[in-house]
Amino acid sequence: MTVPATASPVSQVYTWEPSNRAIAARYGLAPEQIIRFDTNTSPVAPDFLADVLPGPFEPPLNEYPDSAYDALTVAAATYTGVEPREIVVAAGADEILDLVAKAYLPAGSSALVPIPTYPMYGVLTGQRASRILAVPRRGPEEGFALDMEAVIARLGEVAVVWLCDPNNPTGAAEPEDTVERVLEASAALPSPPLVVVDEAYTEFLGRTVLGLRGRFRNLLVVRTMSKAFALPGIRVGFGLAARPVIERLEGVRPPGSVSTISAELATAALARPDWAQRRAADVASERARFAGGLAERGWQVSPSVTNFLLVRIGDHDAAEAAADRLLRAGLVPRTFGPANPLRGHLRLTVRSAAENDRLLEAIT
Ligand code: PMP
Repeated sequence: MTVPATASPVSQVYTWEPSNRAIAARYGLAPEQIIRFDTNTSPVAPDFLADVLPGPFEPPLNEYPDSAYDALTVAAATYTGVEPREIVVAAGADEILDLVAKAYLPAGSSALVPIPTYPMYGVLTGQRASRILAVPRRGPEEGFALDMEAVIARLGEVAVVWLCDPNNPTGAAEPEDTVERVLEASAALPSPPLVVVDEAYTEFLGRTVLGLRGRFRNLLVVRTMSKAFALPGIRVGFGLAARPVIERLEGVRPPGSVSTISAELATAALARPDWAQRRAADVASERARFAGGLAERGWQVSPSVTNFLLVRIGDHDAAEAAADRLLRAGLVPRTFGPANPLRGHLRLTVRSAAENDRLLEAIT
């Protein structure tokens, strides 16, 4: 049999058999009665797990996670106030960004990237052989805000607009109506781009554009457990959007990229948003103190609404020398290469008061 050139001999979407919970519900069984003969897994977990985990882990680790991540999705929905069907979960915000690139950036397409911003947008765009349309942001004196005229003028050329609010690495928030203005301008186009708003740091600001997703079906909001929830090690993030966007991302999502342990921990953390809120409040007060200490030592600190500070040291050599001084004391700053628009700067995370004091002492 010959296969027509346009048809694929294999399914384009990889999905698993339904979860224990779904099968139990469908066949009137208890979930504990279900035995997986479909997954090529072990009936027992390694006995040494007891040495590293407090007890037998539930759900068991010798089976795959629930591919739909129902409990985690419901927890994320409750936390954000959206419907579970408007959420896709993944192994960190980075995997959500990767799903966007896979689903929305065919080779030869273009994506708009305001510069400077989180480097993964450009990296993922390039990996798909998609063109990066870099639009420089305004300068530090204007809070590194988007150049709205330039962004709006180029919207018709791109499949994806990568926005980050608050922005990494500048630490600044966009002026309040920025995203809405970009969405309004995109809605006037015959084929609007997907507007990605990466809200990785949103809990520190206490503001979100999620409320716009009903009006603008091309908006995707990206969240993470890595920042205010303080769990980067578990690798959990999620995307929130109108159903057609979620469906398109689900179509390219690996079925089990979030581990069972990670899904359980993220579910528990999302049920305690007060912890993340307190964390954000602690960061805000320590940020002011830390920024004051840096400024006293002659470093020029950009205003920040996040858990990090962008600091201007001088020229590139001065920033390199400052980084070297910190590294010798075991303190690791984020540096920027000589070709980066932020050369001459360092980015410093706001850590505990004692740790921040160590850094201040190292530059005294
Ligand atoms: N977006 C931004 C703006 C980030 O700063 C980061 C992490 N540095 C990420 C996404 C990735 O987050 P995650 O750890 O959830 O993959």
